[in-house]
Amino acid sequence: MRLIDLHCDTLAKLAKPYGRGTILENPYSVDLVRLEAADSLIQCFSTFFHSGRYPGPVREKLAFRKAQQRIDLFEKQQKYCGGRLLWIRSRGDIARCRFEHKTGALLTMEDAVPIGGRMENLTHFYERGIRLITLTWNYENAVGYPNSKNASVMEKGLKPFGLDLLAQMEELGIIADVSHLSDGGFWDVVKNSGKPFVASHSNARAVTNHPRNLTDDMIRAVAQKGGVIGLNFCPLFLGCDGVSSISHMLRHISHIYRVGGEDVLAVGTDFDGIKGTLQIPGVEKMELLLDALKKHNMTQRVIEKMWWKNALRVFEEVL
Ligand SMILES: [Zn+2]
Repeated sequence: MRLIDLHCDTLAKLAKPYGRGTILENPYSVDLVRLEAADSLIQCFSTFFHSGRYPGPVREKLAFRKAQQRIDLFEKQQKYCGGRLLWIRSRGDIARCRFEHKTGALLTMEDAVPIGGRMENLTHFYERGIRLITLTWNYENAVGYPNSKNASVMEKGLKPFGLDLLAQMEELGIIADVSHLSDGGFWDVVKNSGKPFVASHSNARAVTNHPRNLTDDMIRAVAQKGGVIGLNFCPLFLGCDGVSSISHMLRHISHIYRVGGEDVLAVGTDFDGIKGTLQIPGVEKMELLLDALKKHNMTQRVIEKMWWKNALRVFEEVL
C-alpha cells in the first residue's frame, strides 16, 4: 500500500559534519531504498535548523542561510538517487509518482523563521521548492507563538504578518501546518484559511495531555476544513514514557478517528527528529503498524485513507 509521511528530520541528520550515508541509503530512519520497500508515494523532508530562541534579525538571517543550505543539500542528495526520487513541486509531479510508481520527496520548512517577516522571502522559498510550512517551532517568530504550558503564550494568536503570510501561502500553493503552533494561532488559522491545512506531526491531547497535541475541538476543526493530522511517533506525545509503542499509537489513532472521522487521519512519523526506543525504528517497519491496524479491525478503506489518500487529497487541493 502506498504511503505518505508528512514529516521527517532526516536531512538534519545528513547535514551533520559526521553525518553518515546519503538519502539513498543511510543508517538513520528514512532513505530511498527503504522508502521504496515501504511503497512510499511521498516522503516530506523538513529543512529545519535550530536557530535559537529569540526573535530578531540575527536569528532570521542565520535561519535563512541554513534553510538555503538544507535545500542545497537535498538537491545534492537527490543526485545520488539516479532519478528514482522525484521532487514534488506540483500536482503534476504527484501524478507522475503515482503512475510511474515512484517515490516523491516534498520539502517542508519547519518554523517560518527563515522568512523573517519579509514576504519576498516566501516567494524565494517557494521558487526553491518549499511546499509546506510549519508556521512556528517551539519559539516565537515573526508569524506567531509556539505551543506552551504557559497559558498566556498558548492563547496568543498569529501576528498581523502571520495572517498575511497565510493568505500568500494559499495564493502560491504552499500548505499551512499548525503542528507546534499556539492554540490561539491554531484558531486564527481555522478562521482565516480558505484551504485545507494540516497538523503534520501531532497527536490527541485528550489521550496525552501535551501542548504539542490537539484538543478534540481542534481535531474536529481540522476535519471540517478538510485537513489532516499526521500521527507522530514521539514517545512524549504518544504518552508512553521513552518507548514509542504501537499500542499507544493505536490509542491516538482510535481517538482521532472517533472524534474527527476517517478523512482526517494521516501519518507524520517525525522519524529522525525523535528520541527514545522506537517499536517502529524506521520506515521499513511501517508494516508493523499496518498489521496492528488490521488486527484492530480498521477496514482496508480507512487504512488506505490514513496511509496516503487523505494526505493526497490535501496536496492536490493546495499545490
Ligand atoms: Zn517538529
